[in-house]
Amino acid sequence: MREKITAEKLLDDIFSIMQRLYNEMRSNKEKHDSHLKVFEIFAELGRTLVSADRASFWRWDKREHKLLTTAATGTQQIVIDDTTGLVGQALAENRAVITNDPYNHPNFNSAVDKKTGYVTKSILVMPVSNCRGETIGAFQVINKLDDDGFDEVEDTKRLSVAAFICGMALESDMFLADSQRDNLTELKNRFAFHSDYESKYRYKKIPMSIAICDIDFFKKVNDTYGHNAGDAVLKHVAQMLEMKTRSSDSVYRWGGEEFIIVLEGAPLAGAFIAADRVRQAIMNSVCKFEDKEIKVTMSFGCAEIDNKLSAEENIKIADGRLYRAKANGRNQVVIDD
Ligand code: GH3
Ligand code: MG
Ligand code: MG
Repeated sequence: MREKITAEKLLDDIFSIMQRLYNEMRSNKEKHDSHLKVFEIFAELGRTLVSADRASFWRWDKREHKLLTTAATGTQQIVIDDTTGLVGQALAENRAVITNDPYNHPNFNSAVDKKTGYVTKSILVMPVSNCRGETIGAFQVINKLDDDGFDEVEDTKRLSVAAFICGMALESDMFLADSQRDNLTELKNRFAFHSDYESKYRYKKIPMSIAICDIDFFKKVNDTYGHNAGDAVLKHVAQMLEMKTRSSDSVYRWGGEEFIIVLEGAPLAGAFIAADRVRQAIMNSVCKFEDKEIKVTMSFGCAEIDNKLSAEENIKIADGRLYRAKANGRNQVVIDD
């Protein structure tokens, strides 16, 4: 009898969580990274499915050899080496790892317990894969609520629901993030600009400006030093643009040797100051490539984003000014028509 009531309650809890997930997926994500909220709800789903006290979902950054909590109930984000702990073991062996006696497990890391006073009694970790079978993360649940510990058969079966959905969502998030980045410069690309424009710039509540900029006589760099040197200059310019703008500003590779900077909180006069500072920094910098030192300059056209206009119309205004900066002799910022 008790089991039946528990099953009904569990099902109702699952449906409530799924409904929150559904609503969260449909809500407008204004803030950067706020879409990661869905992973918090996935963690809660996993926790509920196996009646655990805590749950966390880890993303595996294979390039940096790190594991990062994308969502965790009860703690802040944690970043660890991908070889450590039970999560590291689950990924290395590509299988679920379970212990109901963690303090006697060689791979258990008690650092978090020591720091927070929490007492870990049982752990279950399941690797999470994308649809190609590549492991991309891990789902971890801690402390089975009825003190008996996790059951290898029952609990892995239940947790696989959350691990599966999480894997699909993480895969699509990683895919989207990749598709919005330029491979050469690692800046956001044109696709990302349109996506950010729709989610953020279009509904701006503070002044924002666009600076569109283009390397002067870039063809000559390719012709003189070769295409690889041209690529190095593009990377150098991308780094300078990132370094010389605020962290709240966004830099995009618009195409070829053309970039867009969106300046947050900047009316046109502020955009001029910011763009001219970047222009001078680039003019005074050198790009080292093999034994050469290559110098370039850039021309800029700025426009304050007008909400009444479309993204294309706003860019067209800035682009017209960039054209005039070129016609007037290059290496300058133009903010009027
Ligand atoms: P302007 O001052 O008028 O802008 O002259 P420009 O030479 O910079 O402009 P133009 O449009 O004539 O040439 C741009 C060159 O940029 C031509 C193209 O081959 C080169 N380019 C575009 N994308 C890349 C890239 O990814 N790598 C390299 N190396 N070159 C690129
Ligand atoms: Mg150019
Ligand atoms: Mg160009």
